[in-house]
Amino acid sequence: MQVTVCGGGNAAHALAGLIAARRDWTVNVYAPYGDEAQRWREGIAARNGIAVVTSGGTRTGRPHRVSADPVEVMPGSGLVLLAVPAFAHELILHDIAPYLDENAWVGALPARGGFDWCATEVRRSRGAREQGSRGAEVQGSKGELFLVVFGLQTLPWACRLTTYGQEVEILGAKAAVDLAAWPSSAAGTVANLLSEPFGVRLEPVANFLSLTLANTGQIIHPGVMYGLFRDWDGRPYDEAPLFYQGIDAPTAGLLQQLSDEVQAVRRALEWHFPDLDLSAVRPLDEWLRRSYSEDIGDASSLQRCFVTNRSYAGLRAPMRQAGSGWVPDFQARYLSEDVPYGLVVTRGIAELAGVPTPVMDEVITWAQERLGKTYLVNRSLQGRDVASTRAPQRYGFHQLDDLIWQT
Ligand code: NAD
Repeated sequence: MQVTVCGGGNAAHALAGLIAARRDWTVNVYAPYGDEAQRWREGIAARNGIAVVTSGGTRTGRPHRVSADPVEVMPGSGLVLLAVPAFAHELILHDIAPYLDENAWVGALPARGGFDWCATEVRRSRGAREQGSRGAEVQGSKGELFLVVFGLQTLPWACRLTTYGQEVEILGAKAAVDLAAWPSSAAGTVANLLSEPFGVRLEPVANFLSLTLANTGQIIHPGVMYGLFRDWDGRPYDEAPLFYQGIDAPTAGLLQQLSDEVQAVRRALEWHFPDLDLSAVRPLDEWLRRSYSEDIGDASSLQRCFVTNRSYAGLRAPMRQAGSGWVPDFQARYLSEDVPYGLVVTRGIAELAGVPTPVMDEVITWAQERLGKTYLVNRSLQGRDVASTRAPQRYGFHQLDDLIWQT
């Protein structure tokens, strides 16, 4: 099996190292961003592979080929894994599509919201381009681009790069992670294939819509940023606040309200479509207990689930240096990924379902100002920047039936 990992950050290093450590799989890396391909190659040569350090020991795997040019790493790959923040998904899919084998399986870790819609859009635009350039002869003659599209509800691990191209540390692994696929019948096969190399139990779920709504990053990251910084007076901090361990009672309350609103959307969809299985859209506290069963010291409340979670210990808010102090980095992925590819997607579904989401609206309104974007206008997703999100409205879905037809 040839696998190509796309990306050059924490997750891509963990994946490339873990999979390359298997003798029966060959791993390539597609790293188009900046000088990352060069840095990967130098690091791998220095260490003879990527060392993945876990509490149980170190596994080292050496990727076969690393390149910023898709023609060098894509052809022949049966499995392609996108391990990048969601804002890079569409770009990468467009870059790699011309070089993909017809039967490739393409997945994102994590999928975040609307990854299946994004892949469908790329597939359609690619098909249209091919038909335009090659005429009628191409019609019906070619297999589907991306035979299987799949996504994980979250990254299986919390991980951080320690030395570029050489070493990554896994701070904690989730006990179980949900996986959805299109076509949905493929989810079990993909989950069986990847559970062992990832070292995590992957559980197939009924549909991609479940992953979109069950994306807990959309709740936790913007919610905690709002909790930490909504009253920030502009003065630099001496040090970055603890992100998860700094969650106080009001922020935990806000996270609970966001989770409740997602559950209200789930209930509305289940009411409209009784056959739709959204059982994987779990309340936030239930998801935390399931994902971190071994790591949570005290599960008596939502706040305690965060502050006593070993996997989250010591992780700090994203900040940038300002003089001798630190200011919040509002362009970091906790807002730039989790709002347009997370909360806004769910907000778009809520709008189609007619479910009011006052707390989501409050957080999105605050976040869009920090990001310099406009999504919500007059409590409706009609801002100019909706076109660059993965909200259903961006893909032309204007009623619930459109959404379900795609699922
Ligand atoms: P990261 O910040 O380390 O990854 C950044 C990488 O993304 C860059 O190195 C580059 O390779 C790629 N990238 C960024 N912009 C790009 C662009 N415009 N074009 C092409 N490539 C681009 O992120 P990560 O920690 O590896 O996380 C990957 C995903 O996993 C994210 O969705 C993140 O939210 C999620 N996640 C990460 C963790 C973790 O512990 N690292 C935990 C849970 C979820």
